[in-house]
Amino acid sequence: LHDVPLLDVRDVEVAYGAVTAVRGISLRVRSGEVVALLGANGAGKTTTLRMISGLLAPVRGSVWFDGAPLAGGPNSSPGPNAGPGPNAGPSRDPGRGPGLHRRPRPRPRGSGRPSSAEPVPGRDSGANLPVHRVAALGISHVPEGRRIFPAMSVAENLTLGSFLDARRSREGTRRELERVHTLFPRLAERSRQPAGTLSGGEQQMLAIGRALMARPRLILLDEPSLGLAPKLVATIFAVIREINADGVTVLLVEQNAAAALRIAHRGYVLDTGSVVLEGTAADLARDPRVRDAYLGAS
Ligand code: ATP
Repeated sequence: LHDVPLLDVRDVEVAYGAVTAVRGISLRVRSGEVVALLGANGAGKTTTLRMISGLLAPVRGSVWFDGAPLAGGPNSSPGPNAGPGPNAGPSRDPGRGPGLHRRPRPRPRGSGRPSSAEPVPGRDSGANLPVHRVAALGISHVPEGRRIFPAMSVAENLTLGSFLDARRSREGTRRELERVHTLFPRLAERSRQPAGTLSGGEQQMLAIGRALMARPRLILLDEPSLGLAPKLVATIFAVIREINADGVTVLLVEQNAAAALRIAHRGYVLDTGSVVLEGTAADLARDPRVRDAYLGAS
């Protein structure tokens, strides 16, 4: 059983209309790992996270979480009744049926990308779990740009996160809130403040805190260091390390490759939608191709 990766992305392709953003990538995250997803702008990192969390459906390939399918079918077999796949063990989600599709979502306005091209629904209708089902299985997504609710207070934003906790209990939520406040004392101080008035760094803390309130097994972090001052970047990375030490598995998308590789166990480098390199963080940090392209080694 230890050989089953917590997250298994197999040969996944994702397209926005005619634009293929991810071209058959495969990656694995084992329970307890921090795995970094590196690559230049437009490499497909965000698309990969959005596909894992159920915001986008793959055109082909499949995604497995703890041995159960999240997206795609067993080996992309066609038809609505693809039947149980090789890994279709006892399902942790008995309500799942063939009728569920991931709902494609337009990117938010102002993201600078064309919204006319919508992602195409997956051809495999076997298991394209929608976002809330993926979340209920224990995957929390901290999207790029944070997406906190600006008019709501810090405390309310955190409470919303706990609604995604499938094992929610008053006591569990209370303990998790305490934990989040210990990780981010600033959030405790600002509890009643409207989230939109927080600084960028504080909003990033809130976004991570809100994801933790769901008590995930796997957290997907999209560019947590983006736009933060160096000191705050260090804080955020230290917290990610702590979260992982607490038993949460981490898939981390980062442009800051140096910082990411310092806390990651392993990493994948994406280039124009494909995995071009993978290895331990130490090997990647030493690799001349990574050093030249992403670590700014001179
Ligand atoms: P960044 O670090 O800049 O966020 P990324 O590696 O996360 O880059 P993605 O955001 O996944 O890259 O984008 C991958 C490709 O898909 C890019 O070429 C991008 O222009 C394209 N793309 C992303 N979203 C859409 C969309 N809604 N419609 C059309 N194309 C899109």
